[in-house]
Amino acid sequence: MESLVGRWAGINTTLAPSEIETCAQFLLKGVRNDDHSEFYLSNRLAPGGYAWVFPKGDGMANVGIGVLGSRSEGGMPIELLSRFVNDKFPSAKVVEVIVGGVPVCGPIERTIADGLMLVGDAARQSDPLTGGGILNALDVGVIAGEVAAGSLEEGDVSREALGEYEKRWREKIGVSLERSLVVKERLVQLSDEDLNTLAHSIKDRNISKMGLFGMVSLLFKTNPKLLWSFRKLFKSKG
Ligand SMILES: Cc1cc2nc3c(=O)[nH]c(=O)nc-3n(C[C@H](O)[C@H](O)[C@H](O)COP(=O)(O)OP(=O)(O)OC[C@H]3O[C@@H](n4cnc5c(N)ncnc54)[C@H](O)[C@@H]3O)c2cc1C
Repeated sequence: MESLVGRWAGINTTLAPSEIETCAQFLLKGVRNDDHSEFYLSNRLAPGGYAWVFPKGDGMANVGIGVLGSRSEGGMPIELLSRFVNDKFPSAKVVEVIVGGVPVCGPIERTIADGLMLVGDAARQSDPLTGGGILNALDVGVIAGEVAAGSLEEGDVSREALGEYEKRWREKIGVSLERSLVVKERLVQLSDEDLNTLAHSIKDRNISKMGLFGMVSLLFKTNPKLLWSFRKLFKSKG
């Protein structure tokens, strides 16, 4: 996550605990949910993060928890996840355990140096709100590959030549990372009571086909006072 290679190239890759989600995930067998993902936002269950249930079919599911690094301590994500799983899926079997950190602070200032491009978590390209980084890493990896091929053909892998990578990946995902950061910064400040207010405010709305930003927009319209900092997300839209 904190890229050592980036540091060797003079890029400040240090992350503060508040910029990381510390995560634990179990692959469970025997989960009765094959058709929808579940997200639980709660300071009690997952301080500064969330718990998730992602079904994979045939009774298997990835069930995990992310805790903001500044609110976590040794072993906390695993302890909270074990408690969550015992409550929710008492008869499920743990097949696999994964632990790790995900950057949730938005992108690093610079992702290129002479002969170097940072991609994925090393470049902090994971979504600050969801912590999801696989899709972005793949999309941006394609750009990095194309730029690398072009630069090698030209015989120039200088920082200037690799500037095309920096420009293209920011054009592709920069705005969505910025938006997610604004939303996450507010959500981590909310109490469980506030989070319940938000959830109840849209409980009669059909959100099953709504994208993440559509839901953010709906929550803002329904709770403008609580989510006042979100106004900057909608300003340019008039
Ligand atoms: C518990 C957990 C659950 C997650 N769930 C999801 C999810 O459901 N969806 C999603 O989109 N994202 C999820 N993420 C985030 C996602 O895993 C990362 O954003 C994504 O894997 C980033 O890809 P990457 O290639 O940048 O880094 P990585 O996947 O971490 O790959 C880096 C690779 O480099 C290797 N490496 C490191 N140092 C060296 C070295 N010196 N020499 C050689 N190799 C080295 C590592 O071993 C590793 O294989 C999750 C993260 C965690 C921790």
